[in-house]
Amino acid sequence: MRWKTAEYSGWGRAVKAHGDIARPERVSALRTTLKEAAGPAIGNRRSYGDAALNGAGPVMDMTRLDRLIAFAPSSGILKAEAGAMVGDIARIFAPRGFAVPVLPGTGLATLGGCIANDVHGKSHHLVGSFGQHVHSIDLMGPSGRVRQITEKSHPELFRATIGGLGQTGIILAAELRLSEGGAPLLDVRESRADNLEEFMSMLEASSATYSVGWIDAAARGRQMGRGILEEGEYLPHSAPQRMKNRRSVPFDAPGFALSPPVVRLFNSAYFRRVPPEGRQRHRTLDDFFFPLDRIGHWNRLYGKAGFYQFQCVVPAVSARDSISQMMQRIARSGLASPLAVLKRLGAGRGGMMSFPMEGFTLAIDFANRPETPGLLHALEEVTLAAGGRIYLAKDALMRPDSALQMYDEQPDFARVANAADPGRVFETDLVRRLNLRSRT
Ligand SMILES: Cc1cc2nc3c(=O)[nH]c(=O)nc-3n(C[C@H](O)[C@H](O)[C@H](O)COP(=O)(O)OP(=O)(O)OC[C@H]3O[C@@H](n4cnc5c(N)ncnc54)[C@H](O)[C@@H]3O)c2cc1C
Repeated sequence: MRWKTAEYSGWGRAVKAHGDIARPERVSALRTTLKEAAGPAIGNRRSYGDAALNGAGPVMDMTRLDRLIAFAPSSGILKAEAGAMVGDIARIFAPRGFAVPVLPGTGLATLGGCIANDVHGKSHHLVGSFGQHVHSIDLMGPSGRVRQITEKSHPELFRATIGGLGQTGIILAAELRLSEGGAPLLDVRESRADNLEEFMSMLEASSATYSVGWIDAAARGRQMGRGILEEGEYLPHSAPQRMKNRRSVPFDAPGFALSPPVVRLFNSAYFRRVPPEGRQRHRTLDDFFFPLDRIGHWNRLYGKAGFYQFQCVVPAVSARDSISQMMQRIARSGLASPLAVLKRLGAGRGGMMSFPMEGFTLAIDFANRPETPGLLHALEEVTLAAGGRIYLAKDALMRPDSALQMYDEQPDFARVANAADPGRVFETDLVRRLNLRSRT
């Protein structure tokens, strides 16, 4: 196997690692590579922080192992290699009336990455997380031995692998249960919410299959927490549309690109784009589920220093108070970017380290400025006090104590991961930073 030595990062580009990267095309090559030098598997590095980094050794880039292996229309079960992109799978099966049951906000995440972070989508309140639709996983251990695991055959190992950040082994392939009713187009209703209370009530009252909110994180006073609720349903039998041309950000943007006056102006215009009475329109699957993928390298908008994403979930009972506290701090800081999402989550989670809990999730991007870590630590404290969690797929700054309090199944996870990988060759920077494999 030819190795490439490079500096690389997650999507946020604020934290980096330097090391050897192998990109095998066949399982046999992966096995040989593991024998040469073992390290964790990574997907398409759409995690924002250090989840897919290993500064202490090599990584196995799985994006070339991306074949679709088999599909049974009667059960909807698709078997695919771990490097297949979920957006490609969704696009291929939509015209056949099938849907990927859980899609994150980017189609450029791999099947393996979606399992290892147990990702959630716009229908989490109804269908739960990605891992809850995974039937089986082909898992390669540090010795190169492959086991097919299911919830029945290996209950603990399966629950430690879903959302398990690659710590139990390398996911080679998986069987995913597609749902019926997919289509290339969706019917989407957009409605304005004038403040946080109205927004949260609208999210709670929504009966749509897919719902997500854009929130104006720069608005203050009576407008604090205003935003736009999007509710979508697949349009059965709609015809595939031609993909719009993809634009790309050609270079790192200068510091003023996301300064507070620019963000306030942008957010006001974005909010007013939807008329007060709302609007309804048909949107393509890509446009609705992966709006940011239309702009290649959009992470360059934050400049060379990169950015952090803060994403928490807080329980429904305390959500009004805790999210309002966070929004006040964020608006006062002047650090927020226009990329901010408010969403309702259900209770569904497939693994020991899965993020979701019943409540509300808030996700906001912040340019990497000297004041940003302080703000994120303050938001971490509000999350902790509310009994919530920070999403490990997005994190780069959380303190280990907080992580261990938020993820109460961590001791079981550490036990199962340490048994599956006693030499700790699959540890990543995130896992070391947060001591996720320590036994307390
Ligand atoms: C624009 C955007 C929107 C997003 N929206 C959402 C959202 O709505 N919901 C959500 O939940 N997430 C969301 N995410 C996060 C993203 O879906 C997750 O971080 C996902 O895990 C990325 O997949 P990846 O293939 O890039 O994996 P990577 O980021 O490369 O890796 C993620 C983790 O998976 C492990 N891993 C990857 N492949 C394997 C494998 N084959 N075997 C074992 N372990 C493996 C890695 O070690 C690492 O721990 C979003 C990200 C972006 C950039």
